[in-house]
Amino acid sequence: MQGNGSATVLVAEDDPIFRRLLQARLHSWDYRVITAKDGTEAWELLQQPSPPDLLILDWIMPGIDGIELCRRIRATQRDWYQYIVLVSGRDEKQDVVAGLEAGADDYLTKPFDIEELRARLRTGARILSLQRELIQAREVLRFQATHDDLTGLWSRGTALQLLNAELERGLRFGGQTGILMIDIDHFKRVNDTYGHLNGDAVLKEAGRRLKNSVRSYDFVGRYGGEEFLVVLSNCTADKLKEIAERARCAFAQTPISTDAKDLRVTISIGGVVAPSEIWDLELLSAADSALYEAKRTGRNRVVIGSCEARGTQLKKATCCDIAHGDKKIVG
Ligand code: GH3
Ligand code: MG
Ligand code: MG
Ligand code: MG
Repeated sequence: MQGNGSATVLVAEDDPIFRRLLQARLHSWDYRVITAKDGTEAWELLQQPSPPDLLILDWIMPGIDGIELCRRIRATQRDWYQYIVLVSGRDEKQDVVAGLEAGADDYLTKPFDIEELRARLRTGARILSLQRELIQAREVLRFQATHDDLTGLWSRGTALQLLNAELERGLRFGGQTGILMIDIDHFKRVNDTYGHLNGDAVLKEAGRRLKNSVRSYDFVGRYGGEEFLVVLSNCTADKLKEIAERARCAFAQTPISTDAKDLRVTISIGGVVAPSEIWDLELLSAADSALYEAKRTGRNRVVIGSCEARGTQLKKATCCDIAHGDKKIVG
């Protein structure tokens, strides 16, 4: 039979002769087979990482029976589906109904025609394969909905949601949240001089460098055209300065290769650290003012603002507390 190469079947059957018979047949049909001598062993096997998703379960078994196994499997939240063929010597209509209601997808009465089992397993494998395709398509859609196409960073909307969640977490459990607004300096010139495609290449590389500059659990989003938003959880002002400066240097010290030539690209950064009691998206405008200050005072620099809270609201944001840059800051 075609197409079973990757499918693994779990056979839970307490009758050793019938179990071995099924195992031999399934092997000859090209399935990989795992066997369990009772329901308890089957349940343990199903708790292992990457368990089989095509299951043949006997109804009557010592310990956990097939019906209970079906219920337990269906009660467990999983990202993928497990297709269950329940087999039993019970052939009353109400038995079939009880089996299906417990969560079985199919029901076979012993003794059954082995070719019928083969055909029913093929149906199960087909449904599972369709389901895997659906899951993959859903994952692609989920990624597209939350990420920026060009850079692969979080999209603006998702970055704002992540910021919101981070501020809420800070409010509940304590811990400051850091925000960096980052803008590429004179980016229009890159487009105007070397064309949009090279501009795109610079944006992609900028995303990579920013991701490499932050900690693995910080979020980097593309906020707008050539603007990026970084959300840093549990971040002190010192840490924020250190990370921002690392990001600035990642650009200032190494040109970006494009098809046209290696381009020296710099970034300006405005940042704030939100006190733990604050939950106010006005923080973004505070970071934006710091960014504006970094631009105004010469670009290729970091300006960190400071915030005062009134309850959960921002009382006052002051700019220009600290600045790093290649040139000396004025004012
Ligand atoms: P400043 O230092 O003041 O930030 O100057 P700037 O030139 O970087 O700023 P400005 O806002 O004038 O220009 C931003 C440019 O970014 C304009 C826009 O065409 C370009 N841009 C926005 N999105 C994209 C994109 O996806 N790809 C490319 N190649 N360019 C983009
Ligand atoms: Mg049995
Ligand atoms: Mg801009
Ligand atoms: Mg810019």
